[in-house]
Amino acid sequence: MRQKIIAGNWKMNKTPGESVGLAQAIKAACAKVPKAKVVVCPPFTALAAVSGVVRGSAVALGAQNMHWEKSGAYTGEVSAAMLLDLGCSYVILGHSERRTYFGETDEIVNRKVKTALAAGLIPIVCVGETLAQRKESQTEFVVSAQIVHGVAGLGADLGRIVVAYEPVWAIGTGLTATPAQAQAVHALIRGKLTELGGAALAQTIAIQYGGSMKPDNAPELLSQTDIDGGLIGGAALDAVSFMGIVNAV
Ligand code: PEP
Repeated sequence: MRQKIIAGNWKMNKTPGESVGLAQAIKAACAKVPKAKVVVCPPFTALAAVSGVVRGSAVALGAQNMHWEKSGAYTGEVSAAMLLDLGCSYVILGHSERRTYFGETDEIVNRKVKTALAAGLIPIVCVGETLAQRKESQTEFVVSAQIVHGVAGLGADLGRIVVAYEPVWAIGTGLTATPAQAQAVHALIRGKLTELGGAALAQTIAIQYGGSMKPDNAPELLSQTDIDGGLIGGAALDAVSFMGIVNAV
């Protein structure tokens, strides 16, 4: 059985000082080992401080992005080795905000995924359609292409990734995909993963849902066959609401 994984994407929020407080509250609430795997993804500037808080606890640390090269002249960028050294075990890659505002393509995402895996990080690979694409019945086409190109060529390492299905129209908008809408796309993603890596391997890959997940809508979403957790934005900035989702598992 796949373990559910709840990850908080803090985005460009929280100073290191504020991050420590939030991480301490989440760690304390996770002291009774939760059923779900819990991951917090603060901004780069807070990773070291949060690492000090969660080390040795049930809470894992993740970053929100990284570069695909190991090192070099890439001003302002951060490498996989730097994240590992800070205690990260996860990294979010291909978030729709990175695709929209920073021009990340499936090819870039694929390079990053390969670099993350080679370094020993678990990539949380984000995919999802825009509202216009959904209205034009392009969801299946868009998400399939993001999967097929974004996680191409991984071989057996495909089994080490986490996928996050995040309909762009549901991120930070208060709109949530219905459990049935989400399940349909999750099943499609698992089908694509099956084509890439075989059924046995695809069955082991966690597929998170992301898009205005909150404590009140989490139970129904998380009860769907192919929804294996959540990637949480807004509700992850408050320990009570984040733990409300963790405890919905
Ligand atoms: C996200 O950005 O990954 C996200 C799911 O945000 P929110 O929960 O705020 O919709």
